[in-house]
Amino acid sequence: MAFWEPEIEQMGRGDLEALQLKRLQETVGRAAKAPHYQRIFQQTGISPDSIRSLEDIRRLPLTSKDDLRAEQPSDFLALPQADVVRLHASSGTTGKPTAVLHSQADLDAWTNLVARSLCMVGMTRDDVFQNMIGYGLFTGGLGLHYGAEKLGATVIPAGVGNSRRQINLMQQFHTTALHIIPSYALKLLETLHGLGMDPARDLDLRMAVIGAEPHSEETRLRLQEAYDIKAFNCYGLSEMNGPAVGFECTYQTGLHIWEDNFYLEILNPETLEPMPEGQTGEIVLTTLCRQAMPLIRYRTKDLARIEPEPCPCGRVHRRLSRIQGRSDDMLILKGVNIFPVQIEHVLMAHQHTGGNYVIVLDKEGPLDTMTVRVEMSRQLTDASPDQVRAVERDLSRLLKDEILISPKVELVEPNGLASGEGKAVRVLDNR
Ligand code: ADP
Ligand code: ZN
Repeated sequence: MAFWEPEIEQMGRGDLEALQLKRLQETVGRAAKAPHYQRIFQQTGISPDSIRSLEDIRRLPLTSKDDLRAEQPSDFLALPQADVVRLHASSGTTGKPTAVLHSQADLDAWTNLVARSLCMVGMTRDDVFQNMIGYGLFTGGLGLHYGAEKLGATVIPAGVGNSRRQINLMQQFHTTALHIIPSYALKLLETLHGLGMDPARDLDLRMAVIGAEPHSEETRLRLQEAYDIKAFNCYGLSEMNGPAVGFECTYQTGLHIWEDNFYLEILNPETLEPMPEGQTGEIVLTTLCRQAMPLIRYRTKDLARIEPEPCPCGRVHRRLSRIQGRSDDMLILKGVNIFPVQIEHVLMAHQHTGGNYVIVLDKEGPLDTMTVRVEMSRQLTDASPDQVRAVERDLSRLLKDEILISPKVELVEPNGLASGEGKAVRVLDNR
């Protein structure tokens, strides 16, 4: 098992918390130079001395995506503008994208975390790493790019889309590792099968980093089997650099949050009180090393819980469960709360589904209705209409067991559903 920085990855919990406290105090000192926090700190009498223990973090204000949207990025800047060397932005999944400014030290720290994460999953200098994710303002491309280079892998900066070209690159340069959005990895599988290829046989892949959007364990298992790879979940958000805030280790039992760089809280999204350990709540993160744009108690809206057991890999950094989705993603139908990923969990476990689905919400009179459109497997394209109807009924019944209501299920041809190149849009709300 490989460690990039054993002294940090395996340090004792007490030492890690002492480091966090020191860095939290420094962060408050730096944030006080940014107009946004300066104003709030003055109003509430907060200074670095207010933080005597890690629990004192609860005296600090929360920061939301709307705070970032309402003000200019420069209002959050703790360094002179001249020290900023790069700008990134969020994808804008839930509205106006938020911009984040980085100093060179910030980029170096981020690159180091990506290298640490890739080393953790066993990537080495011998790997050929095809980075099939958006370059540019989106953090996934450049973030993994520099981290993989630092690790010493051979990086192919492929970017998104053009599946034929991606497959050619994989074949020509014997790609062994991918960074890919899970919904696109499923779609690419359809393309490969359509070309009569079997990725397990015809490609040299051995691992993939998957992330940027919620996905189910069944999706991971499907990808692992079809490509004959190990697939590792990678979590991050532009406001906290981007990818590699949390990353799975080879045990694949949750995302180690790099707690030397981020202070993690799980709060009840309504009361904003800490959740009891092990219970699902909103992930709230504080940057501990950021120079240009320190963010304090940033509300991610992402829902997860802490896996309290120590990880067999020996890393002291706590693990988060798979992300359930954003609080904004929750659908309420007939009084039941549903996350799209619960539906995906059922669909991807079924042998007759293909790689893409969409959840359509409509109104019939006063009633809300849900239709799940899902692509069928290639084998099912030869089946009779009656057999297809039987699979639809089967899926509807299995979904009822999971989400307590029976949606209408419609199977469509492989590649029959529209898909973009970025994060999948799983819900079409026509209500
Ligand atoms: P946006 O918030 O506009 O989508 P980002 O590009 O910063 O912009 O995306 C970060 C968000 O993507 C996270 O807050 C989370 O909702 C989602 N995300 C990233 N990685 C994962 C992952 N591994 N599992 C689930 N969701 C993820
Ligand atoms: Zn581990």
